[in-house]
Amino acid sequence: MFILEYKLRGKESQFRAIDESIRTVQFVRNKCLRYWEDNKGVGQKDIYKHVTALRKEFSFVKDLNSTACQQACERTWTAILKFYTNCKNNIRGKKGYPKYSKRTRSVEFKKSGWKLNHDTKRITFSDGKNIGELKLIGSRDLYYFQEWQIQRVRIVRRADGYFVQLILKLDPRDITPQLETTKKCVAIDVGLKYFYSDSNGETVECPKYYRQSEKRLNKLNRRKSRKFVKGQKQSNNYQKARKKYAKGHLKASRQREEFAKEKALRLIQSNDLVAYEDLKVKNLVRNKKLAKSINDVAWSLLRKWIEYFGLKYGRLTIAVPPHHTTSDCPNCGKRVKKSLSTRTHVCDCGIPVLDRDYAASLNILKKATSGHGGSWSNEILDLNAWGDSTSILVGSNTCQGKLSH
Ligand SMILES: [Zn+2]
Repeated sequence: MFILEYKLRGKESQFRAIDESIRTVQFVRNKCLRYWEDNKGVGQKDIYKHVTALRKEFSFVKDLNSTACQQACERTWTAILKFYTNCKNNIRGKKGYPKYSKRTRSVEFKKSGWKLNHDTKRITFSDGKNIGELKLIGSRDLYYFQEWQIQRVRIVRRADGYFVQLILKLDPRDITPQLETTKKCVAIDVGLKYFYSDSNGETVECPKYYRQSEKRLNKLNRRKSRKFVKGQKQSNNYQKARKKYAKGHLKASRQREEFAKEKALRLIQSNDLVAYEDLKVKNLVRNKKLAKSINDVAWSLLRKWIEYFGLKYGRLTIAVPPHHTTSDCPNCGKRVKKSLSTRTHVCDCGIPVLDRDYAASLNILKKATSGHGGSWSNEILDLNAWGDSTSILVGSNTCQGKLSH
């Protein structure tokens, strides 16, 4: 199971509708539990029938999407089953008698009641609770997976807002061919000088055509602008220039896509884990002065494909918070501030002078393998299985522990 989470943006009235849905879920769950308590020998089928009855009796239950009702009932049933199993196996101490819920925080839909719009990154809930269309906030775009791979959609209420979780199941056929375990992991840092540097001390250069096509595009764009006449129908020459420019764009973007794809595939094939920075925050810092377009586009493409191939081949990909990765010493952890022009990492702890990006990638690897939060949910990754950070030695690339999913 993979879970992708986005924050939801919407109107106050929509959030009230979510609250109302969650309340109904809780109502259904507790009603099912009561039904089981009150009637001896109730089985799963009886409880399902009871939900149908509830939908007839209460209009607000009927308003909730039927799969969400089912899901609420299934949860109760799972709790009951767990209790039965514990009793049967004679577990010592508490048997986990199912409890009435007081603080339900989520509502879960199966395959109906919602619709994703991939282009606008919005999700619409269409049952009688009138939640309507909500905007998804989050850096992952929705093209990594097909809609049929979404098994369930869950809305979760938290202290800081409402979130939606897309719960994806990958068909084993999608994950083939399975790759052999490599016992290696790598972290990459996207620098300015290189396309990226990795924690093995290797660097990948930006291909020359990145710059070339940029130049060419600028030229085409200028030519197009020269032919543009304000306030009247554009000439054939303008249309020609416009088409040329558009084609140039397409060509350049395909080249970039191919390059990123190739590099990403290689990283995924030769490592069990690929770590990188969750770069949003860093962008803000870096972009102030620097020619951002090339690096940003290149990076987001690379990340997209790393995550795509990671899913496809069942490898771990971890995005770590980018704070201090360039300043901290990968050996002793001391914070060594660097200006943008400082190309090396120097520390008095005895570590040899390192390239700045190399040092950063070592920090990223350390963060990813020591369990300090990746962007995947912990339900998927047991990060601790990778051992603590001391097992990662500067300059070495041996991962201890094993893959946990
Ligand atoms: Zn140090």
